[in-house]
Amino acid sequence: MLQQTLMHAINYTGIGLHSGKDVEMKLLPAKIGAGISFHIHGKKDVQVIKPNPFVVMTTELATTLGNEHTHVSTVEHLMAALLALGVDNVECHIFGKEIPIMDGSALPITNLIKKAGLRSQYALRKVAKITRPFLFEANGKTINARPYDGFYVDYTIDFPNKVIGKQRLALEITPETFDEIASARTFGFMKEVEYLHSKNLALGGSLANAIVVDDDGIMNPEGLRFADEFVRHKILDFVGDMAMFGMPLQGAFEVRCSGHQHNNQFLREIYTHSDQYLSYEELIPEKRKADIPYLGLKTALA
Ligand SMILES: [Zn+2]
Repeated sequence: MLQQTLMHAINYTGIGLHSGKDVEMKLLPAKIGAGISFHIHGKKDVQVIKPNPFVVMTTELATTLGNEHTHVSTVEHLMAALLALGVDNVECHIFGKEIPIMDGSALPITNLIKKAGLRSQYALRKVAKITRPFLFEANGKTINARPYDGFYVDYTIDFPNKVIGKQRLALEITPETFDEIASARTFGFMKEVEYLHSKNLALGGSLANAIVVDDDGIMNPEGLRFADEFVRHKILDFVGDMAMFGMPLQGAFEVRCSGHQHNNQFLREIYTHSDQYLSYEELIPEKRKADIPYLGLKTALA
């Protein structure tokens, strides 16, 4: 599998969840091996942050990346789209402190990436593969990771709320199946929204970018996009949180009742103990794998 970058640059603007103000974004193609990088444009300088589990600072409302100088919030849906669609190398330029929330899903950014197109680069994609089972449990939240050729997620949520309740969905994440989860929107509870607004937080949050749930139903007049939109969004968040590893992580993940913070703690554990649980490999295309015995036979005959 070859590395990929964007065919064309992407420019877009959207409202920030925290500030409620418009944020301008530019996604630019990047060279082989460059990876994903965030370029945070401040008044005086530009800070560059590359994803790894330890640059994730807070995970309360959304995933924030940062260093001692600056930070950028709400990166998870963009990261999920880049990982799932196979964008290895890209520069994400932010003219603000947060990524636009758009409609609360990854559908708008997914469509923008598809419209810009991808191009292959002449180097193999590097991945980190889970090599032995790893169970991470805390506070009733579980991530059970097993070796698997690909990226498979089996996710269960169980909310003490009759609108959400128990939902489960399992799927292999590929550029094709990503459509199944990309359009699932973030969700929150009416009482949380009132609390956040009272604290001057989530000023950009509204029914235009979140499903708002109360005890009896949802507040959004348009209804749900899927009957199980909630678990789909949790999978979207999980994909984005795993993308924070810094390269694609391959394995099968059975997840129960997790969230941004638990996902990040899991990632820190596996990153720190990578010598025990991971192998770093280049993804050899299927076609080339098939060529290997043939080449061996030719050598033997020669
Ligand atoms: Zn989310």
